[in-house]
Amino acid sequence: MTIDRVHAAREIAEETGVDLLVLTPGSDLRYLCGYDAHAMERLTALAVPRRGEPFLVVPRLEAPMVEVSPAGGLGLEVLAWDETDDAFAVLAGAVTARLGSAPARVAVGNRTWAEHALGVQRALPGSALELAAPVVDRLRMVKSAAEIEELAFAGAAIDRVHARMHSMLKVGRTEAEVGADIARAILEEGHVGVDFTIVGSGPNGASPHHELSDRVVEAGDVVVVDIGGETATGYRSDCTRTYVVGGPPSPAVAEWYAVLQTAQAASSAAVRPGVTAEAIDAAARDVIDQAGWGKHFIHRTGHGIGLDTHEAPYIVAGNDIPLVPGMAFSVEPGIYLAGECGARIEDIVVCTEDGVRTLNEGPRELVELPG
Ligand code: ZN
Ligand code: ZN
Repeated sequence: MTIDRVHAAREIAEETGVDLLVLTPGSDLRYLCGYDAHAMERLTALAVPRRGEPFLVVPRLEAPMVEVSPAGGLGLEVLAWDETDDAFAVLAGAVTARLGSAPARVAVGNRTWAEHALGVQRALPGSALELAAPVVDRLRMVKSAAEIEELAFAGAAIDRVHARMHSMLKVGRTEAEVGADIARAILEEGHVGVDFTIVGSGPNGASPHHELSDRVVEAGDVVVVDIGGETATGYRSDCTRTYVVGGPPSPAVAEWYAVLQTAQAASSAAVRPGVTAEAIDAAARDVIDQAGWGKHFIHRTGHGIGLDTHEAPYIVAGNDIPLVPGMAFSVEPGIYLAGECGARIEDIVVCTEDGVRTLNEGPRELVELPG
């Protein structure tokens, strides 16, 4: 960890006319300065004024935690506040001293708690609040080589969980039982946290974000398994495979699943520098539309991934941002038939200098499990 990301954020703030960035516990803070603080009511914030040195505002009782975190080695000034201090006034005073006047435009983290954002606003009356994403996402969207290796590590870990699915996903078990086994496997295979376990069996598979239920898996069920976790460095995995349990798929399912697989492959293959995010979405959607299944593909094709499972760039119509090497995102088209079943195929991919690197392996066809 170096101070470079904080300084890069300050440069973008300067360039875009933002007078002050305020980032509170969460992925923005961890990304910029390496401090993985827990969010709570007491204010912890990284303040990056357009001019002058950035600084951290932390509750005094947590100042030792900054010191032992990567942020402790960055040379950031740490302003520790006592329980009876007004933490927002401490922040406002230090900012105004650096800028020589109160900031006009203050950008707060998109996932900063409202009580903290409004506290900043109260302490800096006359300033206008806006979101920090336009500044911070410019940095976070483009992964360094080291970050891509972190995502590759996470991808390989979740692939190993999918490879164990035959021992977990069986006829006669409930989705909840399968999900509990998957959660254990996610931890056993190199994650420190479980983000989500979606086991959408039969009709439940038609609800893309269905998680778990007491439904018992039946012979012949198509089952969507979308799972992800967090590794020790904070980077995320997210991979979907669709299974058929205890018997082959019906010819009808096999037919539209083949369309989905073609669409997913087309979308991944379209990834290269200069292609827009919406063109990656269209590459999958066009295949599904042309086969007549378009109205059953009810979500965007993908999302960026890094320290958050869902982050920029979003792979969706209307997002004309051109891909650049280092962008990492999911490619996850799906087809959902209400009342019957669904299917989704999801890989994390990275835009490289001349094409695409896929961070998930494992079969993308409808995987038959003996049940
Ligand atoms: Zn997913
Ligand atoms: Zn995803």
